[in-house]
Amino acid sequence: MPYVHETLENLRKSSPAQTEFYQAAEEVLECLRPLFQRSPYYHDHSIIERIVEPERQIMFRICWTDDDGRVQVNKGYRIQFNSALGPYKGGLRFHPSVTSGTIKFLGFEQIFKNALTGLPIGGGKGGSDFDPKGKSDDEIMRFCQAFMSELYRHIGPNTDVPAGDIGVGGREIGYMFGQYKRLTGRYEGVLTGKGLDWGGSIGRKEATGYGAVYFAQNMLEALGKTLEGKTCLVSGAGNVAIYTIEKLYEMGAKPVTCSDSRGTLHDARGIDLDLLKELKEVKRASLEAYLEQHPEATYIPAGEYPEGGHAVWRIKADAAFPCATQNELTADDAQALLDNGVYCISEGANMPSTADAVDRFLEAKIAYGPGKAANAGGVATSQLEMAQNSSMEQWPLEKVDDKLKEIMANIHRQCADTAEEFGEPTNLVLGANIAGFRKVADAMIDQGVV
Ligand code: GLU
Repeated sequence: MPYVHETLENLRKSSPAQTEFYQAAEEVLECLRPLFQRSPYYHDHSIIERIVEPERQIMFRICWTDDDGRVQVNKGYRIQFNSALGPYKGGLRFHPSVTSGTIKFLGFEQIFKNALTGLPIGGGKGGSDFDPKGKSDDEIMRFCQAFMSELYRHIGPNTDVPAGDIGVGGREIGYMFGQYKRLTGRYEGVLTGKGLDWGGSIGRKEATGYGAVYFAQNMLEALGKTLEGKTCLVSGAGNVAIYTIEKLYEMGAKPVTCSDSRGTLHDARGIDLDLLKELKEVKRASLEAYLEQHPEATYIPAGEYPEGGHAVWRIKADAAFPCATQNELTADDAQALLDNGVYCISEGANMPSTADAVDRFLEAKIAYGPGKAANAGGVATSQLEMAQNSSMEQWPLEKVDDKLKEIMANIHRQCADTAEEFGEPTNLVLGANIAGFRKVADAMIDQGVV
């Protein structure tokens, strides 16, 4: 269909060097071909051209002073991509690899993810190339304050509500919330992922990981299977990976791996979750330190597969949960997973599989839950935090968790039903993209040319 092709060509010309964004856009637009054939009115309303263009992009300089008294400079971003369904919503990522293209791809994915939750939230994302690794607590605080000194004027509880992502957890949200309050004098739900004593939602920290496991459970249920007794591979060692591991144990599964930037940890008896939490949440240490208490586990340093493959995907298992970062799972990794008998993949990270890897999973017709569906539990629970803030309530864990389960089951149902409607019942990528797109596009048409 020339419409899709032309739009992608134009994007490459008008937004040079944003490869991750083209990857995300190409996947979505390719999936939409059968929809455009059936419903030409999206074309008549130029929806594709409108949806790939962010409503607003903010880029700014962040100056802060390090512990040696030197002035440091970083780049800051907030992309307000689409507000058809609600206030812009999405995390902030602090990582040295962050560029405007990274934030654009994440913001684009966020539009459809947020739509799938069925909650009133639009798509946004932000971040900085700041590297939190090795920084003192004071440096983190000064950076977060400097970041918020510009961001505060662009956000608000009914306009744009940032949250965490890689490199941004409870500590950073706290420093940014404090600075927002100082600058505006307002105590309001402008960020999610807040501390439980000052407006946060119980269960938000756990929600992305728990949600990814619930999604896997939904996919397996449709095949008459469960997670009970299954060996699972998890990548990453941040918030998403930790709470994926926690929920896998609750489901009777055995998570045997996790990973950080320096390597992969494999403990065949199952990852020691308490130790993992202590190393990553308290000490902020490398995973290698795990071996001091469990010398029988193995630690495989990164770089084992120079072509970009990852040791974590070469271990025999039943299910895999990529919870680290984008493009962490290549076509070779996908083949290794399939050869090793993995039949369920639920993505806790955003776009962790390369386009070729996704093709392998789809060809093999295994249970594959793409990130924009499988990891939507985090942002969904952020919206529950917004609801609690605006009604000045705090809900108990049971209520939040019940809602999360229901939301994940709903997302799975929408993806599966839409995939079925378009004649490819096992293709949840197609299902997620069409179901998410339809909601946003229909709202845009209802709201006129704005
Ligand atoms: N960063 C998370 C995501 O990728 C959460 C965003 C939020 O809670 O707003 O969806």
